[in-house]
Amino acid sequence: MVDMAAKVDGLMDGLRADLERLAAIPSVAFPGFPAEPVQAAHDLLVGLLRQAGVARIERIDLPDTAPVVYAEIPPPTPDAPTVLLYSHYDVQPPGDERLWLSPPFEPTPVEGGLRARGIADDKSNVIAHLGMLRAYEGRPPVGVKIVFEGQEEYGSAFDAYPADNPERFVCDAMVIADLGNLRPGTPTLTTGLRGAAEVTVEVRTLQEPRHSGEFGGAAPDALLVLLKALGTLHDLHGDVAVSGLRREEWTGTTYTEDEFRELAGVRDGVPLLGSGTLGERLWSGPAITVIGLDAPSVDHAASAVVPYARAKLNLRFHPRQDPREAQSRLVDHLRSLRPFGIPLTVTPGDTGPGYEASTGGPAYRAALAALEEAWGADASYVATGGSIPLVNGLAQAAPDAEVLLFGAQDSMCNLHAPNERVLFSELRNTVVAMCGFVERYAADFRRESAV
Ligand SMILES: [Zn+2]
Repeated sequence: MVDMAAKVDGLMDGLRADLERLAAIPSVAFPGFPAEPVQAAHDLLVGLLRQAGVARIERIDLPDTAPVVYAEIPPPTPDAPTVLLYSHYDVQPPGDERLWLSPPFEPTPVEGGLRARGIADDKSNVIAHLGMLRAYEGRPPVGVKIVFEGQEEYGSAFDAYPADNPERFVCDAMVIADLGNLRPGTPTLTTGLRGAAEVTVEVRTLQEPRHSGEFGGAAPDALLVLLKALGTLHDLHGDVAVSGLRREEWTGTTYTEDEFRELAGVRDGVPLLGSGTLGERLWSGPAITVIGLDAPSVDHAASAVVPYARAKLNLRFHPRQDPREAQSRLVDHLRSLRPFGIPLTVTPGDTGPGYEASTGGPAYRAALAALEEAWGADASYVATGGSIPLVNGLAQAAPDAEVLLFGAQDSMCNLHAPNERVLFSELRNTVVAMCGFVERYAADFRRESAV
């Protein structure tokens, strides 16, 4: 393994150059953005894989979906396991470019790394996979299946594809590299993803606005009704007060409160919401966020009773809770309310399942050892609130495969935000860890199948 780490160090200049080329392409696969850059990023990756010694490369084309790079390297021996490597080459839109310290698609050096849109999420992990293949000169000790998605951030028909076409995704373990470390320098395995559901709630009380002097006091104020309803979603401490949403103790690692405050940008003197550990509040318990509100704006407010108000709620729930069940708990709660005797119209929206990785299998053990060796530090176990819809599809396609979630991002990399950046230390260690993982996993797999 010492040799492999040295080999990776020798590859880093080339990997950095390829990461810069890839990050300079604005591969935003959202409506309203041009398709050519997405195609260009796809073509660049196919070329890089070919140069890395991958012979079998295909593209999967689905309706209204950027092409998926699919590639295979057959197992070197019949008793070697097959590992699926996942990441995505599309990126979030840059958002307001004035908030960026340098143009989002001009990779720019920052201390210890590079800044550009998508350079961490998830182009760093595309390059990490490539680095592992280069380190083994295209002949790793395991069979490999590569899935580089091109429209992960917006979502696409590909989410359902693996479950409908499982034969392509059969494997013994998968490395879902679309995340990273709790903090730079701390190798991290993500073991859970919270599920998500949306619910819209609206109130209509009057035909139209009415003078608040003449009618206020008796005419039912729709905004007040809505606010009273929203006020019941949390208790005095800020913990979710909707019954039936699972909340369990979090047994892995979490942020310190100071780290979390810094990451979230919480202003001095403002307390956090909820009680219990941060892991429980963020990962193994529910959260309800009011993400949108339709009501007159303060600047255009007339002195009138508001006839109509609407709110959109985003629910995050325990990785193992059924999405429909979790959503209906929130829907039922709202429907049971009658603020001032007035019913609410509650409409369930999209849901996405959570995911909980099984831990303790041979691939998990190999990954853990490889991560700790690559970073020279104890590994952390975390969950994340962000969902990766494809994980569930891949897990359905290969139900016996172990799912490993790690990668070169870190909590401070500003993903989806202005000034996204990646650190070379994390990228280098991720490549070393991927190499260590396939090496150990192949050896353990062979030993176990020989027994
Ligand atoms: Zn991503």
